[in-house]
Amino acid sequence: MGTRILVIEDNPANMELARYVLEAFGYTVSAAVDGESGLELARAEPPDLVICDLQLPGIDGIEVAKRLKAQPALSRVPLIAVTAYAMVGDRERVLAAGFDGYISKPIDPRTFGPQIAAFLKSPAPMPLPRDAPAKES
Ligand code: MN
Repeated sequence: MGTRILVIEDNPANMELARYVLEAFGYTVSAAVDGESGLELARAEPPDLVICDLQLPGIDGIEVAKRLKAQPALSRVPLIAVTAYAMVGDRERVLAAGFDGYISKPIDPRTFGPQIAAFLKSPAPMPLPRDAPAKES
């Protein structure tokens, strides 16, 4: 069935774009619009990678990360945050929660696929986005 990616994202436009790019890369996408249903999907069928929005209805992405990483069957699944530009400064909080890296919003369709592909190959901590604001110290 190939590589499965779970996308947890409440914004329909962002979800549509992520799905479009990921499917163009040959990935199978499962979609959840909130953290609770995302966790359920992950438990039912562990994906190869999870992409998670931080601002979600109900539990937020930080809580999703903590719960995913607390489960032995899911703790090694690469987990990528997709964060609004202004939230890049929350790097420590995001990484402390268990995220393996993050990609800033809005998703750039030209780079999103390669970024995810790189993560699947080598799930090491991702360097800061090239466009990280300089104000972060
Ligand atoms: Mn959101």
